Amino acid sequence: MKKLLLLGGGHAHVHVLKSMADAPLDGCDVTLVSPYDRQVYSGMLPGWVAGHYSLEDCVLPLPPLAGAATRQGPGDSGRTPKAVPKGFPRHPSGRGNNICFRQTAATHIDAEARRVHCADGSELDFDVLSIDTGTAFDPAAIDGAAEHALLVRPIEQFIARWQAARERLQPDDPVVMVGGGAAGIELLLAMHHALPNCRFALVSAANTLPGTVGPRLARILKARGITLYPATAAQRIFADRIVLTDGREVASACTIVAIGATAGFLIPAPGLARDERGFIETNHFLQSTSHTRIFAAGDCASMAGHPRPRSGVYAVRAGPPLIANIRKALRDEPLAPYTPQTRSLYLISTGNRHAIGSWGSWSWEGSWVWRWKDRIDRAFMTRYTAG
Ligand SMILES: Cc1cc2nc3c(=O)[nH]c(=O)nc-3n(C[C@H](O)[C@H](O)[C@H](O)COP(=O)(O)OP(=O)(O)OC[C@H]3O[C@@H](n4cnc5c(N)ncnc54)[C@H](O)[C@@H]3O)c2cc1C
Repeated sequence: MKKLLLLGGGHAHVHVLKSMADAPLDGCDVTLVSPYDRQVYSGMLPGWVAGHYSLEDCVLPLPPLAGAATRQGPGDSGRTPKAVPKGFPRHPSGRGNNICFRQTAATHIDAEARRVHCADGSELDFDVLSIDTGTAFDPAAIDGAAEHALLVRPIEQFIARWQAARERLQPDDPVVMVGGGAAGIELLLAMHHALPNCRFALVSAANTLPGTVGPRLARILKARGITLYPATAAQRIFADRIVLTDGREVASACTIVAIGATAGFLIPAPGLARDERGFIETNHFLQSTSHTRIFAAGDCASMAGHPRPRSGVYAVRAGPPLIANIRKALRDEPLAPYTPQTRSLYLISTGNRHAIGSWGSWSWEGSWVWRWKDRIDRAFMTRYTAG
């Protein structure tokens, strides 16, 4: 039996799991390690914040997708294994998909010994390892962020803390978003929709929005009465205010931080090749440039020679070539190259069942764009919900 170890239930790995459910890997023990038993689909998160979706609408439960919660081993969290749903594809031999779901976080990768250490004390050996653990924001990047701000990543922590903040916020309270990328602005507009009596502001150091989306979003932010602090950054966050790098102070009863992804919180893996920013470096096979038995995809990885934005679109697209090459690696066959697309469609919701779409330098908007986005997002959830 070969051992395939999957770290993280991210956007690429949900496809890997689905593919194995459709066509199980023969002669292979598979283990999925994830600190949570569900994967939040970030594309629908602003819709949950705005109140258009329930949380259940936006999460993919991982044990049913892995199809083998019943095989949970010792040292796990002790949670009751969830039943494999009726109709979930089974391996013809009756062994199910032979996937063990371990609810814990990987804490250290020993690439040479082919072993992964986990927070629950377990050590997992592998013949092939695939990493899709996303990124996190380094709270040390802004003084006071760890104590006083809601960090958008990890998303599970954001969900819990936003629910608490929402209960606590009173009419007229100032709410400040730090980070003017698509995710930050989408969340800000969703929060404004959910809490129209609060006062909202956006602190944005730079315009990172694709094509002509920036002017459209600027118009919408202005129309909603959201105060803008452009071309400046948060230097220090206190419980009741933010100090900006230009010296101004902004009152804030709730500060949310959605600045760019950093590699600082990736699982330590001495010797595993990294790019200049610290992300796992892969070749065009999605294979580590230093360790041929290790694959990586999604936000945690960078493909040498093919730099792309860190977005769910690219993580999702990496799923099919990733599982194809994992299968080949397990059979010791030559791998197939993959070139990520150079452009992608972005659909950015603006809180009120309205959205902006963009492709390259083109952009458009309307309630029909929101309905289009809603259909795409729900179709994604349906495709990867086992049962
Ligand atoms: C509010 C918001 C809205 C967004 N909207 C869009 C959008 O509309 N379109 C788009 O393309 N992109 C969007 N993005 C970006 C998108 O979320 C990311 O690019 C995408 O999630 C990356 O997918 P991933 O598979 O790399 O990682 P993730 O989706 O972050 O998944 C990583 C997984 O790994 C697990 N994990 C973490 N650490 C460990 C560990 N140590 N051991 C084991 N498992 C671990 C996590 O629990 C998680 O399940 C949005 C982001 C945010 C914050």
